[in-house]
Amino acid sequence: MVKRVYAFGEGTKEMKALLGGKGANLSEMTNLGLNVPPGFTITTDTCNEFFKAGGEFPDGLWEEIMEHVRKLEAKTGKRFSDSVNPLLVSVRSGAPISMPGMMDTVLNIGLNGSVAASLIRLTGNDRFVYDAYRRLITMFGNVVMGAERNKFDAILEAEKEKKGVKEDTDVSVEGLMKVVEGMKKVYQEEVGSAFPTEPLEQLKLAIAAVFNSWNIPRAITYRKIEGIPDDMGTACNVQTMVFGNMGQDSGSGVFFTRNPADGKGLYGELLFNAQGEDVVAGIRTPKHMEDLRKESPEIYRELEGISGKLEAHYKDMQDVEFTIEKGQFYVLQTRTGKRTARAAIKIAVDMTKEGLITKEEALMRLTPDQVDQLLHPQFDPKAKEEAEAKGDLLAVGLNASPGAATGRAIFDANTAEERGKEGESVILVRPETTPDDVNGMIVSKGFLTQHGGGTSHAAVVARGWGKPCVAGCEDIRIDLQQRKFTVKGVEIKEGDYISIDGTTGEVYAGAIATMDPNIEEEVELQAALSWADEVRRLGVWTNADNPEDASKARSFGAQGIGLCRTEHMFFDQEGEEVSRRELVVKMILMSEEAAPMLRRLEQLEERLMANPDDERLREESEGLLMSVKDSQAVEDYRESLNGLLPFQRKDFEGIFKAMDGCPVIIRLIDPPMHEFLPPREELIQEVSELRIKAPGSEELEEKEKILKVVESMWETNPMLGLRGCRAGLMYPGLTEMQVRAVFEAACNMAKEGVDVHPEVMIPLTSHVNELYAERVKLEKVGKAVMEEKGVNLDYKFGTMIEIPRAALTADEMARYSDFFSFGTNDLTQMTYGISRDDAEGKFLLNFVDRGLLPANPFQKLDWIGVGQLMRTCVEKARRTKPTIEIGICGEHGGDPSSIEFCHIIGLNYVSCSPYRIPIARLAAAQAKLKHGDD
Ligand code: PEP
Ligand code: MG
Repeated sequence: MVKRVYAFGEGTKEMKALLGGKGANLSEMTNLGLNVPPGFTITTDTCNEFFKAGGEFPDGLWEEIMEHVRKLEAKTGKRFSDSVNPLLVSVRSGAPISMPGMMDTVLNIGLNGSVAASLIRLTGNDRFVYDAYRRLITMFGNVVMGAERNKFDAILEAEKEKKGVKEDTDVSVEGLMKVVEGMKKVYQEEVGSAFPTEPLEQLKLAIAAVFNSWNIPRAITYRKIEGIPDDMGTACNVQTMVFGNMGQDSGSGVFFTRNPADGKGLYGELLFNAQGEDVVAGIRTPKHMEDLRKESPEIYRELEGISGKLEAHYKDMQDVEFTIEKGQFYVLQTRTGKRTARAAIKIAVDMTKEGLITKEEALMRLTPDQVDQLLHPQFDPKAKEEAEAKGDLLAVGLNASPGAATGRAIFDANTAEERGKEGESVILVRPETTPDDVNGMIVSKGFLTQHGGGTSHAAVVARGWGKPCVAGCEDIRIDLQQRKFTVKGVEIKEGDYISIDGTTGEVYAGAIATMDPNIEEEVELQAALSWADEVRRLGVWTNADNPEDASKARSFGAQGIGLCRTEHMFFDQEGEEVSRRELVVKMILMSEEAAPMLRRLEQLEERLMANPDDERLREESEGLLMSVKDSQAVEDYRESLNGLLPFQRKDFEGIFKAMDGCPVIIRLIDPPMHEFLPPREELIQEVSELRIKAPGSEELEEKEKILKVVESMWETNPMLGLRGCRAGLMYPGLTEMQVRAVFEAACNMAKEGVDVHPEVMIPLTSHVNELYAERVKLEKVGKAVMEEKGVNLDYKFGTMIEIPRAALTADEMARYSDFFSFGTNDLTQMTYGISRDDAEGKFLLNFVDRGLLPANPFQKLDWIGVGQLMRTCVEKARRTKPTIEIGICGEHGGDPSSIEFCHIIGLNYVSCSPYRIPIARLAAAQAKLKHGDD
């Protein structure tokens, strides 16, 4: 026959599925030798049987329960209805996964008029007995029979009012007796029958009520939210009552073995002369552990002893309920305590140092989210709760960069810069941001964009700088003319306070207080991360475009730069007299005429090298060379490139210095070139206006010229157009200039004693021929520079793998690459055929919500699809070149699940924005601990 009932001590903590969390723990604690009030657990399977039988006890259950009741009576020396030593029990739910406060509990089962009299004889405490009785009638009427609780509470309240007292404990014994009688009447009226005085009848009904509470609406909703299966069922624990309300030598309390807020020491409270529910209800002010230590050192020591015993056994921080009955300590419940991120990290590290757990266990206990929380400002939880209660939550967008910020909404970068510099807290609100907004972004506390996804400019910049960003918040309607946004009928005007939480994507009206992090002070976090470094196999590099970000990343533990995007170097920087941007614009305008000539010349020279005796080729080449020399366009084109070189060199020098001793991957220019020119629509409008207002003017001529170039460059889908290595192949001298700048900077720094390891990365290759052509050309430049400078560098040339074709032909690509770096932003975009810039704000998140996609593939690497391409790529590449270095520099490089996959397929490193480095270090260690080295 199947065993449905287990006495405490018959089970173990591993039997949670059958005995529920509480039941399994009560058994475990009993076996541990802790003073647990005896009792038994009815299994979760029985709960399911109960439902199958239409809410009836299955055959044989009651008999089995009765057997355990008899054993309980024997063990405790107490008996139901006994006039000398009566037994009272509690009946509590307890699911395999904790559902705090969701299901029902009935206390003091077994109490009736004559038992009350016996108890009074036994304890000499009539106040306690009547107090227990009125609690039983209330709970039984409400929980078991479904009557409204406030009908019962009203009786007690009326008595208090009549006597002019505030606290429940101030009601006299006579008053309580009247309350009990009054409650019995209410019971009769509400339930339609008399309150059952037979203890076994009470017990049976209470057990059924606990089983039934598995299916009350709030429990169903909770399961839905938490993803707890409906067929788990709850166990039911019947336990001898012990009383904390038997006088001043009794009490009830809860304690955490370590403070759940900061992890620092025993934390909790004790309410003398009270039952557990009084502590939870917060009716009276309890004594905190600190007071106890001073005022009642013996009690404190006893609790400390219990705490130590529990931690030694469970090896984790415990949340403990206890009762003291006439000086005797009882542990009613223990479970792993919930804790803040700060406490979690401190507890894991301290427990390791105390020898309770190993470093590996400590690392596996931490979550990347907890690490993240210590790195970014957070809303003060109370202030956030208040804002929520006030209805200030306006919208939820994409959680593009973690942390919380509060400031005035400002709608353009220049105003943001102005007001930010005046010392105001500013949040930049834009439809989207562009590199032109950087001046305002630097001083803003955070960014809110209506469009754009997790790889949009705002998101990438925010993560790089560790600022909060909510992107793609399509619910808000920005009106740049009126300088405001509207959402849900609320209007936020420029200067109004808003608060954003980039960890959750929430946008609030008004200011919410924030708490700032200080990583240097987080010694436990530093310790945990250093253990992670001992364990992990994956390198952790960073995406950084300037020396400041590079230094920041190094201070977080970065071991190299996996992606230095060079495009920002083509935009103006503060304090420079020459405009970089003007040089770029000039180069592009001149390229119309200059580039075809230079490309043709390059081609002819190449062919001539292969056929030095071909006179016709020689003549053509010499003729073209003359024209090139005479061409003003070519001269201007070259001049602008040469003008850019020193800027780039200076930028690279700073980065090499900051990354002394580490590899630095510098990516050649990648974005579509038209991004450097004014927008087409704007130009069309300006030209139309000038044609009316100022026909024949110089300005019109200039604008028409630019428009012509913009038109000629116009692409329906520029992200699939002339970008990446294609720009290098179509703009002669452009990437040569960049490589010259890289090598000159590296040589200069090497001469200054900096240990440099430049790696030049060619972006967006799809065919081995593109890679070959660029590499051969660029390596020549590199070698020439080294010769000029008389320095021999440790350098590499490699490519990004961003296009599925490149991944699939990795065996060919590897022939001309010393390294690969997965650009999983583009690779995801092209594998899914989903635009990374548009889709997140439009349909993608909706698809995730509806379960059509398991997750946002731009945040969490798609192991199955994109991952398959990556795995194939790694296998093929290593077959061609076993030593090839392979990493990832898409946004996934900072995402724990993606990092786990990178470990599994054997990448050498992950590269992510500076503020994600600590998370990546932990995630890489966890991946190794989970999967080993294969
Ligand atoms: C990528 O595509 O993953 C990448 C890192 O390049 P970008 O985001 O600059 O296109
Ligand atoms: Mg890319």
